[in-house]
Amino acid sequence: MLDHLSYTAPEPKVIAGAKGDWELVIGLEVHAQVASNAKLFSGASTAFGAEPNSNVSFVDAAMPGMLPVINEFCVAQAVRTGLGLKAQINLVSAFDRKNYFYPDLPQGYQISQLYHPIVGEGEIIVDMAPGVARRVRIERIHLEQDAGKSIHDMDPALSFVDLNRTGVALMEIVSRPDIRGPEEAAAYVAKLRQIMRYLGTCDGNMQNGNLRADVNVSVCKPGDYERFQATGDHSVLGTRCEIKNMNSLRFIQAAIDYEARRQIALIEDGGTVVQETRLYDPDKGETRSMRSKEEAHDYRYFPDPDLLPLEIEQGWVDDIAATMPELPDEKKARFVTELGLSEYDAGVLTAEVENADFFEVVARGRDGKQAANWVINELFGRLNKEGLSIGESPVSSAQLGGVLDLIASGEISGKMAKDLFEIVWTEGGEPSEIAQARGMKQVTDLGAIEAAVDQIIAANPAQVEKAKANPKLAGWFTGQVLKATGGKANPAAVNEMVAKKLGL
Ligand code: ADP
Ligand code: MG
Repeated sequence: MLDHLSYTAPEPKVIAGAKGDWELVIGLEVHAQVASNAKLFSGASTAFGAEPNSNVSFVDAAMPGMLPVINEFCVAQAVRTGLGLKAQINLVSAFDRKNYFYPDLPQGYQISQLYHPIVGEGEIIVDMAPGVARRVRIERIHLEQDAGKSIHDMDPALSFVDLNRTGVALMEIVSRPDIRGPEEAAAYVAKLRQIMRYLGTCDGNMQNGNLRADVNVSVCKPGDYERFQATGDHSVLGTRCEIKNMNSLRFIQAAIDYEARRQIALIEDGGTVVQETRLYDPDKGETRSMRSKEEAHDYRYFPDPDLLPLEIEQGWVDDIAATMPELPDEKKARFVTELGLSEYDAGVLTAEVENADFFEVVARGRDGKQAANWVINELFGRLNKEGLSIGESPVSSAQLGGVLDLIASGEISGKMAKDLFEIVWTEGGEPSEIAQARGMKQVTDLGAIEAAVDQIIAANPAQVEKAKANPKLAGWFTGQVLKATGGKANPAAVNEMVAKKLGL
């Protein structure tokens, strides 16, 4: 379906060290909060910003005797996400306990899926620039519980805990170490976020922590990565560090860049990179060590005895597949091929599904390119300036379409259309009625245009001689006629008339 969309493998960013060139290798573990009203194993609400500890059921608080019950909707959301990433859906998966102590984890373990995740291998086509797309492989997606939140800055002597988040469903989306530079990493997260927003499986709000990434970074010498690809041998790659909990695309890039340079300097200095978990400090622009890396066996994972293996049926997966929306890549390709848009414009219009939907209503039965220009330049430009979302636009898609219809029929000029857009924006109303009421009609009446052209020609004999010698100067007459008619004359018709009268 998308054969005409070509993509390449990611491209290594090369950093010159004191003793030679280095390449980056990056793999991301993205935690995406499942868009769901209820938690993964309890009916408690997931509403953001609620009074602390008000959305906590006995299951979330790990009261004795409470048992988890899987939320079918969250499972469907993970399947939907997997389908959106062209991934394998595993009809049998299972939940495991990852054991550790933390005050915001009442159970003393997190329920996750280590051995049998619900989603297997998939891919994301990452857009770098118009015409430049790269493929990053997904290793797996598993479902797991989020932890609560410890609060240390409300009181000098006390710490508090808010369990509202405890037990909220997360999808952990693990990439292969296919990402080769900071920009690719940010573009990867952006594309993943876009796909999930199209699917309605994660709102992607990074400020609220609904999408956060653990970023694994290592460096290697040119040629090593190709050797790893050919053999699958991880040991030819450098030792990686994991930067935890990044929730900004800008910081992800800055952290990767810093971390790569730190590792390069360390190695060139004769040191070795220690596998560890690090934190990024945005104020200092540095990463610092948080703890040494723990291995899966440190957590004493074992199958959760409270939960049966999760078995889903192919028919149920097929039902979900049947309700998949058109995804960004497909929509963008269709805008290019069917509506004749540039890849850049198609990319802008499909960035958010709400924008694409709005545009499609405007473009329906009209000139696609013109509709794109108006939506991107006039509407988005204005919305940005006012800090409004598309849902808050004072001009509806039908109203904007009405303005375009008046241009297409030749009733108003492009200049008048901008004035009309402004009136609709501030006062509302039906474009053709406004144009009528305010006399915004361009003169296409050839008799009237002819009279105006004759008059300007008669009054400017010297200009006429010049224009006859140099036809490029005919534009001067068009300008004069437009001025004389208060901008109401149809410029194309005036041009034609001027040329005819001057015998050009
Ligand atoms: P663990 O379970 O120990 O965290 P994984 O094999 O699951 O290790 O890898 C976690 C993440 O680290 C994955 O996204 C993977 O792509 C990435 N990764 C693995 N090896 C490297 C490496 N050498 N450099 C950078 N990232 C890596
Ligand atoms: Mg991991």
